[in-house]
Amino acid sequence: MYHLLKAMHFRQYCQKKSKPPFNVLAAILKLSTKYIVDELREEVINTLSAIFSSRLTAWIDHSVRYTPADLDAMYSVELAKKFEVPIILPAAYYQAVSQLSIRTMMRPDSSMASNSIRWTCAVFREELMSMIYQLIDENNKGATIFSTRDKYNNWLCEADECYSLLDSYKCGTETKLRRLTCSDVFKPTLGLATDPDFCEAFRLRVDQHWRRLQDNSWNRLPSLCGFKDWAVVRTAQAALKSSNEQ
Ligand SMILES: [Zn+2]
Repeated sequence: MYHLLKAMHFRQYCQKKSKPPFNVLAAILKLSTKYIVDELREEVINTLSAIFSSRLTAWIDHSVRYTPADLDAMYSVELAKKFEVPIILPAAYYQAVSQLSIRTMMRPDSSMASNSIRWTCAVFREELMSMIYQLIDENNKGATIFSTRDKYNNWLCEADECYSLLDSYKCGTETKLRRLTCSDVFKPTLGLATDPDFCEAFRLRVDQHWRRLQDNSWNRLPSLCGFKDWAVVRTAQAALKSSNEQ
């Protein structure tokens, strides 16, 4: 109640630029929904959307993305479901499961989330891993970049044979992605071809290969939480907003 009153007086209190702690945002979301303070609810949803972006470009840009120190991603999944904030759901799920092992997810002190949400997240984690497994397979099938091998079975630049990309390096990156052991599946430096021996054309093609996999993974995140795609997620959020305004 204190936070709600303070926020009603100080609208900027829950805006991203004020760097509000997560527990404040959670409290304001609950109270503004309960007491139907629509403007404040929209304000807090805007800030939550900067934490759990619905756009990949914003997700990977840390000057746009906001991460409060006390962020509880698994509890955010609970908030998104309970207080109807679908726009943050895919990224909240992703953040919850990509930062925590199943063992940590089930530990009572790891989150304020209920047991049923912990289980939902565990299921999401399994589904995400198998989806990435499938997308890696599809991405490799469609990739012309990995078509020529050298005598050691590594991947040769087709254009000028400038360089061989170690097969073990490619497989190692894929394994980290499938097991969610890289810090973030979407980080821009993933698999980045920085070796100075690459010609520019090969470097670009290697980068594009991983970027395509990241784009496809991001685009499929909503399908793991009951939405066809991001457009449907946005429509669902917009519909909630207009129904509140009526
Ligand atoms: Zn080359």
